[in-house]
Amino acid sequence: MSVTQPRHAVRAPLAVRVATPIGVLFTAAASLATLMGISAIEPIELPAPAAAMVLPGVELAETTAANPCVDDDVTAALAAGDDAAVVHAFGGGSEFREAVVAGNAPCVTLDDPKYIWVVVNKMRPLQPESFAPASLTGIGLYASTGSNELRPAATDALEAMAADAAAAGAGTLGINNGYRSYHVQQRTYGTHVRELGQSGADAISARPGYSEHQSGLAFDLIACASGCSSLEQFGDTSQGRWVAENAWKYGFIVRYERGHTGTTGYLPEPWHIRYVGVDLAAAYHQGGFHTLEEFFGLPDAPDYAH
Ligand SMILES: [Zn+2]
Repeated sequence: MSVTQPRHAVRAPLAVRVATPIGVLFTAAASLATLMGISAIEPIELPAPAAAMVLPGVELAETTAANPCVDDDVTAALAAGDDAAVVHAFGGGSEFREAVVAGNAPCVTLDDPKYIWVVVNKMRPLQPESFAPASLTGIGLYASTGSNELRPAATDALEAMAADAAAAGAGTLGINNGYRSYHVQQRTYGTHVRELGQSGADAISARPGYSEHQSGLAFDLIACASGCSSLEQFGDTSQGRWVAENAWKYGFIVRYERGHTGTTGYLPEPWHIRYVGVDLAAAYHQGGFHTLEEFFGLPDAPDYAH
């Protein structure tokens, strides 16, 4: 056997990886044999040649794993504009996140607001700043303002969540704000600046082009019974508690949690919910994440750059 060793040594890392399961099997077999009082000398010549034979297949698999963007299912889902299918084709939310964080997913951009994985914050405006979603659908819940639309997938998920919250006895969900256009945000922010100055306006309203509401993926919830709560009351209602616990099952995250203002740039807002799709929300929840910035390995965004 020693004669063949130099040739194998060249490919040591791959050979080690392939050989591992065989080694484990061998160890297990040897232990079992020992337990049974049988001598385990015979298998010594088994592993090494077999490992060397399968090397080409291993190299191919490594290439695919390093760049999921070359996978046929990923490219097809991207071409079809099916964001959920893209994440699924990566292998799930955790695999998608890991590939993005590792820089191994060149086909995924966190900058483009047309995707459910976009990250918008005070350092990352929508691009372009006047972005508007390709399609919006009305939300079938009581709405306290005229901003009562979201992108279709987000609307469907919100309606399903509201139905389940009611069925679970948590009460009725209503909506305060869904999609807000660049122009609506410009008007709102402009009014605040005139009344409070820029720093006063920044404290209570996102600048136009910097609001997650403009993506059509974010909304503000209220709790309704005979009347409806304010936004600020929402977190302390049975609806607010139910949403905090269950929203991830529907593809949502609570975007601005307590204790993470230094990362998100926003005070806690238990009412502000962001759609990322079921796979990413599950990975976010199960991974114990509290901000989208942390989830995707992005820098903190405590304030505007200027
Ligand atoms: Zn909001």
